[in-house]
Amino acid sequence: MIALKDSPSNPETGMDNKTLVVIAIDDTDSKNGMCTTYIAYLLVEQFLRKGISFEDYPILIRLNPNIPWKTRGNGAVSLKFRTKDPEKAYEDACMLVSKYSELGKQANPGVVMSTISPPNIEIINFAETALSEVVSRREAISLMKKHNIQYRGWGKQRGLIGALAAIGNLLHNDATFELLAFRSKENWGHQRAVDNESVKKMSREIYPDTFNCYDEEKKRVLITPRGPDPVLLGIRGEYPEKVLQAYRMIKIDEAVKGYLIFKTNQGTGAHLKSKLDLSDLKAYRTGHFECTVIEPPKTGIGGHVYLKVKNKEGYANCAAYEPTGRFRKTVLSLIPGDSIEIAGSVRKRTSKHPATINMESLLIKKITDDIRFVNPDCNICGKRMSSKGQSQGFHCDFCNKTDRKAEKVKFENPRTIQVGIYIPPPRAQRHLTKPKQRYLLKHKIYSPLIEHWFN
Ligand SMILES: [Zn+2]
Repeated sequence: MIALKDSPSNPETGMDNKTLVVIAIDDTDSKNGMCTTYIAYLLVEQFLRKGISFEDYPILIRLNPNIPWKTRGNGAVSLKFRTKDPEKAYEDACMLVSKYSELGKQANPGVVMSTISPPNIEIINFAETALSEVVSRREAISLMKKHNIQYRGWGKQRGLIGALAAIGNLLHNDATFELLAFRSKENWGHQRAVDNESVKKMSREIYPDTFNCYDEEKKRVLITPRGPDPVLLGIRGEYPEKVLQAYRMIKIDEAVKGYLIFKTNQGTGAHLKSKLDLSDLKAYRTGHFECTVIEPPKTGIGGHVYLKVKNKEGYANCAAYEPTGRFRKTVLSLIPGDSIEIAGSVRKRTSKHPATINMESLLIKKITDDIRFVNPDCNICGKRMSSKGQSQGFHCDFCNKTDRKAEKVKFENPRTIQVGIYIPPPRAQRHLTKPKQRYLLKHKIYSPLIEHWFN
């Protein structure tokens, strides 16, 4: 922890005349380096050293995961604190972003500062829309001008969208936490020295208070990214104390710069809350809808499973792609007439394929009886008879008996699925996907900033 000097030379000493400020940053990273969360870490470190007091955990907001021009995770960060000099804090943020962003590569960063808390309802609505639709930079800029929000953008300034969304997203309904640990610079680009066994042990002991840390099925550690970026690992969980406890259980054999606990919308399913209208499936939109299965699902090339559904608004082609593993088996068990709710995202229509909904979760609401009619058994030899044609009766090919009065026999094929929610396995989940065990959670109460939220 950084010791705060309570001296007269420190301009941040004392609580009087301090302004509540929210600064957000986004789109600082490219596919091969940097991470907005790391710049946030550096900024927090700098602010704490100056004696700036934080009001809440840094917030990490994942936006609509289907935006094709996003960088890796589409995550924006906001910091809420009190300071006597908001302008200086803003300058510090801009300085760090311009120094550390992958400018000129793929990064198009934005820094946004607001001194209005809570934000205006229009900003809150903008943030909500950014979770499930495509929003424009122009929209973000016009809102910021209208509400006197300061901003600065670089390159194509796309980061202004995420930064404004991070200011408007208050995580009032649900939130999770992620402890992100960062690597010492000399290790960037090298293999991460994190002990897999300790991750497995931690995951088993602290689950479900931490989640998506270890894939038991594929025996794969999920907390370490693979790229050359500064993130060593990220532990997701329900409470700040729990992600810290988990972190302390992990054996790390390399120098760690430090860690920061974020409050996030990861694992909340926030991007699927809005309703998808089957008569208006705009590309990249996300949401959910109720529907009925109209054809038996099929497996296609590459092991992807396809499903056709309808509701009163229209028809939809849905897909459970190969990486969703066992989830596909559940989809394949559906039959026409089953009542379901699908949540997912709209894949753009191409010359070869119609718009397809990429299934992220499946709620089976009502299972229809699987009634089938089969040819009767021969009452002499017991073998299945064959039909002689419409109303012509049946014939046994084994003992040659013909029965003109015999009729098809009704039989009920037992269903192999149950009513309930089905989600792809952790390795196929997106940042925002709500893991299955979280559907059972009651309203949570989080601690205000714990002592060791930053190190
Ligand atoms: Zn027979």
